[in-house]
Amino acid sequence: MDPRYDILFTPMKIGPVTTKNRFYQVPHCNGMGHRWPQAMAEMRAMKAEGGWGVICTEECEIHPTSDLSGLALMRIWDDSDLPTHELMVRKVKEHGALAGIQLNHNGSSVANYMSRMPPIAPSSIPTESQRSVQARELTKNEIKTVRGWYRDAAIRAKRAGYDIIYVYAAHGEMTLPMQFMSPRFNHRNDEYGGSLENRVRFTRELLEDIKDAVGDTCAVVIRFNVDENLGAEGMRADGEAREIVKLLADLPDLWDVNIADWSNDSMPSRFGSEGGQEDYIKFVKQVTDKPVVGVGRFTSPDTMVSQIRRGVLDLIGAARPSIADPFLPRKIQEGREDDIRECIGCNMCTTSDTLAYPMRCTQNPTMGEEWRKGWHPEIIPAAASQDKVLVVGAGPAGLECALALSNRKYDVVLSDANDTLGGRVLQETRLPALSEWKRVIDYRTHQLISRANVETFVSSSLSAEDILSFEIPRIVIATGAKWRLDGVGRENRSPVSISGDASIVSPEEILNGRKLSGRVLVYDDDQYYLASAMAQKLCEDGCDVTFVTPATNVSQWSENTLEQFKIQQALMAGGANVMCNKVLTSIDAAKVALECAYLGTETITEADFVIPVTSRTPNDALYFDLLKSEEQFGDLGIKSVEKIGDCNAPGTIALAVYAGHQYARQLDAPSDQLHGFKRENYFGREQESS
Ligand code: ADP
Ligand code: SF4
Repeated sequence: MDPRYDILFTPMKIGPVTTKNRFYQVPHCNGMGHRWPQAMAEMRAMKAEGGWGVICTEECEIHPTSDLSGLALMRIWDDSDLPTHELMVRKVKEHGALAGIQLNHNGSSVANYMSRMPPIAPSSIPTESQRSVQARELTKNEIKTVRGWYRDAAIRAKRAGYDIIYVYAAHGEMTLPMQFMSPRFNHRNDEYGGSLENRVRFTRELLEDIKDAVGDTCAVVIRFNVDENLGAEGMRADGEAREIVKLLADLPDLWDVNIADWSNDSMPSRFGSEGGQEDYIKFVKQVTDKPVVGVGRFTSPDTMVSQIRRGVLDLIGAARPSIADPFLPRKIQEGREDDIRECIGCNMCTTSDTLAYPMRCTQNPTMGEEWRKGWHPEIIPAAASQDKVLVVGAGPAGLECALALSNRKYDVVLSDANDTLGGRVLQETRLPALSEWKRVIDYRTHQLISRANVETFVSSSLSAEDILSFEIPRIVIATGAKWRLDGVGRENRSPVSISGDASIVSPEEILNGRKLSGRVLVYDDDQYYLASAMAQKLCEDGCDVTFVTPATNVSQWSENTLEQFKIQQALMAGGANVMCNKVLTSIDAAKVALECAYLGTETITEADFVIPVTSRTPNDALYFDLLKSEEQFGDLGIKSVEKIGDCNAPGTIALAVYAGHQYARQLDAPSDQLHGFKRENYFGREQESS
């Protein structure tokens, strides 16, 4: 290990417990939680194996009045929830990590869909989860009862074996303690409302109660958002937050500090870079003598060391970097920092929370598959044959496929028609908004460069004839997809009317550097990131941009990646004319006809160029050309021809990477394991799915 990084591996006392190093996996959701407990526990254990000193749960509901049903988080309502916790704690501790639990009552932010209990809050205010539903105001006696719930949950958590117990008072409206502290939610005029000291009372009592109950053996931690990015309306690092840290200074054993809301905390790389919270959180260590942990999508050990040396943080907190690379600490410790699979800040991982499915990660295809498929991020079974593999296309699918096959010790030939590896990622990351996503290529090409068992050819466009002549037994076609120009997408299921003199520009032309000027209409029926990132760039280039979508807002699906609001804000601030709920119907020379998605009424708008971002056609001609010679495969020694990634089914970059990895894992696998994954049903029995 580089001695400069020694400090990252020095132990630190947190109240009555000691972490072996400074790598601290802060609480983060994962879409598995109590719903898929074995998958969740194995995922956490993998990070402990990878060297993280502290591993925390996601938020954990303490009572049925804090019922996040519909989502899959943790739960500690009563003793029947303990087996899930005991499993996770045991697995994490097997690797020498401390286990932390983030206790929470969500107060007014939940609608209690399953328990059907009225939500509770400091005051009678609307809930965040369900429209037309309000939380009821807690009486003083009831506040005592809620304190008891926290205390009981903490005692249970101690019994489950946790070392670190959180009072979660962050992410703005998501937590009851924050609702008490914030005048936006707390309109009380008793000793729990009004003055700052009164508003902090509930949080102070929780910390005191829990310390009293379990503080002899467990560290008691507060997670606190020092700024809500709401200006004068919200908590501010240069306002009340500083006073709150002063008021509670040495009461908790550790301060875990961040900013709110969640979209600011898990800042997408499109809007913020590594260490972006420093200016907000740096005051905390000046106010408390207790250790401080914070996040900032840290992947560079130099930045981590600098945070500690400059007195910003004591412990390096991470959610996303630990998802993209569960073995990040071990790689630094072994002097292999160049092998770190750096998070790209795309927030595909956060979709697991909003859509309640097991977590996935663009960079780490094994994420969420540790238990279900038995995938380890650093270990892959050795090759089961001597077969050579030809991978055609070096986009995310082909690159990951080649890398994982190489890790299995297969001999691989990787070939791409372009003069540079990377496929669509190379193109898309030319957009300034997406530049950090290039790490998908950088990580893989860096790994591949040193591989003796991988031959790479660029500027090599292969035909079926070429491929058949190679007589390589395994053929993988990963030739991607191209954007359609005829308007077919989610809304228009058949081509729109386009006159011969219309100026249609493909997304690829823009991504490959074509410059436009004048009036440009971007039609987005893809509804994720690309159209808006392109429109943002065109605005910056000085074009007069109209952004049209049939959806109710810009880049609608990016609500799940916490980007939607920021994307629409940036586009509007950049001068784009945003038109939602409009379906493209025809394009003439300079006129574009749009139809209201609700009423069908027509609007005509003018544009010199139209860029349709609607859907893609797989580049599968090569695959089908090969199949024409299927009968000769045996004679040519060809055992299989498969298509993967966008060439098979156009999708996200995450899906392409996953497809590449999946191919490599299943090559020569026994047929009963193909595509198989274990399931957890309600009675905890495992089933094989086919
Ligand atoms: P995916 O997302 O599935 O990985 P991409 O579109 O990113 O797909 O990448 C596909 C890659 O395949 C591109 O880099 C393209 O240059 C390459 N490609 C397409 N057709 C051929 C071919 N016939 N021979 C070699 N490379 C090809
Ligand atoms: Fe990072 Fe994207 Fe992976 Fe999340 S999904 S950990 S943001 S690379």
